[in-house]
Amino acid sequence: MTILGFNVPGSERSRAIILAFAGLLVISLSASRSGADEPYARSRDYDLQHSKIALRFDLEHKKVFGDVVHSVSILKDGTAKLAFDSVGLTIQSVVVNKAAAKFESTADKLIVPLPTAAKAGEKFDVQIRYEGKPTKGLYFILPDKDYPDRPKQIWTQGESEDTRYYLPTYDYPNDRLTTETILTVPASWITVGNGKLVSVNDAGNGLKTWTWKESVPSSTYLITVVAGEFDEAKESWRAIPVTYYAPKGRGDRLPINYGRTPAMIELFSRKLGVDYPWEKYAQSMVDDFVAGGMENSSATTNTSSSLQHPKLAPEFPTGEDDLISHELGHQWFGDLVTCKDWGDIWLNEGFATFMETVWTEAHFPKEQSEYERWTNARDWFSETSLFAKPIVRHDFDDSSEFDGNAYGKGGWVLYMLRHQLGEESFYRGLKHYLEANRGKNVVTADLIKAIEEGTHTDVDEFFNQWIYGAGAPKLDLSYTYDDAKHQVGLTVKQTQKREGHVGLFHIPTEVEITTATGARIYLVKVAKETETFPFPADSAPLMVLFDKGGNVLKSSEFHKDKKEWLYQLKNAAEISDRADAILALGKVKNDEEVVAALAGALRDDKAWGIRAEASEALGRIGGASASKKLLEALETAKEPWVRNRVVTALGNFKDDAGVAIKLNSVAREDSSYRARAAALQALGKLKAPDALTTLKEAASGDSPDGFLRNAALRAMGSLGDNKAVPLLLEWSAAGKPIESRQAAIASLARLQKDNTEITKQIASYLTEAHFPVRLSAVLALGSRGDASAVPALETLLKSDELSITFAPLIKEQIERLKKPKSGKSSESADDDEEAGEKENSGEGDRGVTQRLDKLEQLIREMNERLKTIETRLPPPKK
Ligand SMILES: [Zn+2]
Repeated sequence: MTILGFNVPGSERSRAIILAFAGLLVISLSASRSGADEPYARSRDYDLQHSKIALRFDLEHKKVFGDVVHSVSILKDGTAKLAFDSVGLTIQSVVVNKAAAKFESTADKLIVPLPTAAKAGEKFDVQIRYEGKPTKGLYFILPDKDYPDRPKQIWTQGESEDTRYYLPTYDYPNDRLTTETILTVPASWITVGNGKLVSVNDAGNGLKTWTWKESVPSSTYLITVVAGEFDEAKESWRAIPVTYYAPKGRGDRLPINYGRTPAMIELFSRKLGVDYPWEKYAQSMVDDFVAGGMENSSATTNTSSSLQHPKLAPEFPTGEDDLISHELGHQWFGDLVTCKDWGDIWLNEGFATFMETVWTEAHFPKEQSEYERWTNARDWFSETSLFAKPIVRHDFDDSSEFDGNAYGKGGWVLYMLRHQLGEESFYRGLKHYLEANRGKNVVTADLIKAIEEGTHTDVDEFFNQWIYGAGAPKLDLSYTYDDAKHQVGLTVKQTQKREGHVGLFHIPTEVEITTATGARIYLVKVAKETETFPFPADSAPLMVLFDKGGNVLKSSEFHKDKKEWLYQLKNAAEISDRADAILALGKVKNDEEVVAALAGALRDDKAWGIRAEASEALGRIGGASASKKLLEALETAKEPWVRNRVVTALGNFKDDAGVAIKLNSVAREDSSYRARAAALQALGKLKAPDALTTLKEAASGDSPDGFLRNAALRAMGSLGDNKAVPLLLEWSAAGKPIESRQAAIASLARLQKDNTEITKQIASYLTEAHFPVRLSAVLALGSRGDASAVPALETLLKSDELSITFAPLIKEQIERLKKPKSGKSSESADDDEEAGEKENSGEGDRGVTQRLDKLEQLIREMNERLKTIETRLPPPKK
């Protein structure tokens, strides 16, 4: 699954997909009945082998009527009853082997006693008729008075433990079954279920019945139902149907965003040596989806915000490909081979994340994946709460197992494994893993065994430190050169705190030493706390690189002088090493030579990531010559994803008339919408003279999907000009586009702080039907700092039927309002951001500002997605 959260500004991932766990807010889907999923697999009394699931719907009352027949085979002698997971469903009847049966419903189980104790191998058909009004698992998206034109949709989201909210079943990954899904819906609708479409028949009364059949077994969290008013596009891969569905009216967005799917299926089938294993591949894009994407077997569901406007899609370097390749990768890792318990979820998510890289490497210039790898490492380190936790863990009571270790670090570790084993050997191991475990549930030990059998390479140490152990090396690096001995002495210190699951790391890596006569590469294995490695060198080195190319997940502080960093920026072959040089040089203030070097990289480096990083570094350094270089770069930088970073960097230069003029013109007429949006943001942040005029103009103008209007509305909050209030009130009202409302609400929260009428207005959105708006209102009230909103939030916490899942976020906002930060009283709302804006220096405030930016971005991205969520904000300090 792809989880909602948001992107790191530094990395260029698509707007809609949200894999960036790093350091950020993560909205997790995991069930929250008692807060956490079951960490260990259950012991089983029976094997659920096949389910025939017939569903009908009452749209008006958002109800589901089910008639399911489970075919089970008993696993244990003496089994006297069958227990199914079932929450909030009214069971009407149960029939066992065609005879009416007794049953008992508890809060979370349907228990069916068997007539006599059964023996292993005995088979039963259990028919259950039921109805329910699901609060999770199955969702109704319908038009209402404010949004009368919304296409109708019904969709499900099973992972992690939510299938039981609409279907009484065995709801844990360690069982696999085939399915038949029979959906009776209005005749004009389209449906998508797992497997092959068997038939569509007239059902009378303006209804049709669609029958889908999945003959390859998978787990119940991968069962899917999508039904509604959709546009369809069809392609194929080796005669297997490849279909895409968009909410009616948005079908024209399918090709540009999804058209690369068959090429991905081909690539993955070839790389893995195991062909795509299902009978079709459908991708349904639905509104208000609770995740970024969900890899249901043969039938992925994705957020409809992945259907980018055709004019915006080309402004993102990899489009929606991260999301698409992630969910496709799961069809092998997760669906064909499934984690046995949630503690091993990385076997699903780490692999799906790695498969994104596989596609990126194959389809985009090399620099793209290299830059992503570098930013992903930084992102992972920035989410400090992950460091002490191993990837495989079963203690996730207080934080979701769907975390940045399962995803980002998991993907990184697989990258390292491939680097160490070599491409050919690595894929041989994976092929063996997939073949040996096809159709089975696995734990990490199964992967280790398969790799060893497939490659004859022992990987115990690797897995012990990276998967069962926690953390990653933090290195202090320095070197000396002995002219008499012609020797470089490179000292490597591991400085990570060794406690809990964090130990010393054993890392094989490459050291490159460049002297006037050329570069030489040496292999070393770091294994001690402190170690000095001697290398021959004919003269004093011009550059020493440790872990050349950045193939180890690590953080490091390499003590080098400015001259060497300058040399490295210009001469290092790999992006990772040049990017490291930029980070180091970005800390050097008031140095024209450094500014000139960064400007050179911004202008000339062949990798766009380096140009983007250089622009950010110039923004951090500040000063007249840095702003001049950034303005010059706008004349040459072509890619929208670089232009927007340059413009954002210009947002650091206060009281620079030239900058404000340029930002105004970019906001009005740049070739890139992303650059224009960034300019609006920057004008607001700089509180530039007359910025409000530009922002108002942008808010009233036309742009694809209101992209510029939403940016302008958000910028009004940073601008802090109370004259924007009437406009923000107008755009926050029901009936306006949801995304615009979210932007307006976030900005309203920051204006006229002592005006309780505004607080009331925002609080009125807490009871809105549209979840994204409610979410924005909750966050806005928390940030506004007006404690008069507390009762409204407390009411929501108690009354809302969705509040169980929404609760942690609401509680956090209430706490924020009750305990404003010391000395800041009611001004605490955006003091973080103002602190960030006041000083224009250093990493610290950049972190704070980024965090705020991310929060805003989150609100943007909530559009069209959430219905019920469990929400977790990052810890207050980074
Ligand atoms: Zn996933």
